[in-house]
Amino acid sequence: MKDCQAFLLKYAEIGIKGKNRYVFEEALEKDVKIKLQNAGADFNVKRINGRIYCEALSDFDYDEIVAVLKKVFGVVGICPVTLVSDNSIETIKETAVKFVGEAYPDRNFTFKVDTRRADKTYPKTSMEVDADVGEALLDAYPEMKVDVHKPEVFLHIELRENRVFMYSRIIRGAGGLPLGTNGRAMLLLSGGFDSPVAGYRISRRGVYLDAVYFNAPPYTSDRAKQKVVDLAKVLSSYSGMIRLHIINFTDIQMAIYDKCPHDELTIIMRRYMMKIAQRIAENTPDCFGLITGESIGQVASQTMKSLFCTDEAVTIPVYRPLIGHDKQEIIDMAEEIGTAEISILPYEDCCTIFVAKHPVTKPNLNIIKASESRLSEISEELMEKAIESDEVIIINPGV
Ligand code: ATP
Ligand code: MG
Repeated sequence: MKDCQAFLLKYAEIGIKGKNRYVFEEALEKDVKIKLQNAGADFNVKRINGRIYCEALSDFDYDEIVAVLKKVFGVVGICPVTLVSDNSIETIKETAVKFVGEAYPDRNFTFKVDTRRADKTYPKTSMEVDADVGEALLDAYPEMKVDVHKPEVFLHIELRENRVFMYSRIIRGAGGLPLGTNGRAMLLLSGGFDSPVAGYRISRRGVYLDAVYFNAPPYTSDRAKQKVVDLAKVLSSYSGMIRLHIINFTDIQMAIYDKCPHDELTIIMRRYMMKIAQRIAENTPDCFGLITGESIGQVASQTMKSLFCTDEAVTIPVYRPLIGHDKQEIIDMAEEIGTAEISILPYEDCCTIFVAKHPVTKPNLNIIKASESRLSEISEELMEKAIESDEVIIINPGV
């Protein structure tokens, strides 16, 4: 958009948090600043009247900045703002005519001018400004009609002490809650479609992410690992820095393969993943949950009974935000957040290599535990060794 020099960011849910409100607002302001800074953009960011105002201090790429602001959790609306060069009513009217002409090529709509008079010394009342600007718009664009009750388009004018600004369009923001208002969780991140979306959904509620990926060299390739790094990179552009733990899972997988019935491999493997992830979470400050991309019935290891068996392996809460979603809905979300194009790459991950032809779909927990007990003597050592193999990659946000 031409003539955009600032953005007003609207937030909704955090407005209702009573005494905690300032904590949420501060977190939101901090994330806006960090994301703009990461994008190399020079903006002055401050809070005014329950919104965040970002004014450009130098030239910027409009589309790029809108894309960055769309990644800030807690923002429900992004309003591109035009600054009026001086506060005389003539200039305000001229700017409004130009603004509407550019923002709306087709002007067959009803509208209302809505003026806020924050500068109480301004010589006209807000109603007078509404009327003057409305008249100027009707003169310039006779196809427009005023509707003060249910207008299709609002033209907002704010009269502030040293500024007058104008905005109309509201671009939908990411919603959710500001980062850092809800601690941290450990995402079990594989290369598929589901887990990155699951991480996104939880992070959107104000949660920082760390992630763990189980790989099985030499059965899985470096390309499979790189795919997970790339997914984490996209996620971090929303969630902030992610510590990605790469755990060597080969010995555990081989031991399960050797000692347990093959139709139970996946369930037992999943139980080990959860146990190790719990231990890593316990060693991570402020980390209070695991996140997986599971969804009821998606595969044999995600039937209700299978999830019952997986869940029993850990005591930490496990968040499964995709539990009631269909695969296509998940893929749609992955496309929206930008992880789909990476997830679609074909590289194998550890689960696909060791899967049985006919995995159990209705595992019995007692039977699973009995099979697992065949590993009891080596279990602790295997888990410790896996945790020792931990390679931590710091994933810093991309734009
Ligand atoms: P995704 O769920 O990411 O699309 P997937 O469907 O292949 O991958 P499943 O076998 O369905 O994965 O596993 C269910 C969940 O278990 C995943 O969503 C993910 O959270 C976790 N998971 C599976 N494999 C791994 C792995 N190699 N490393 C880390 N987490 C994993
Ligand atoms: Mg899955």
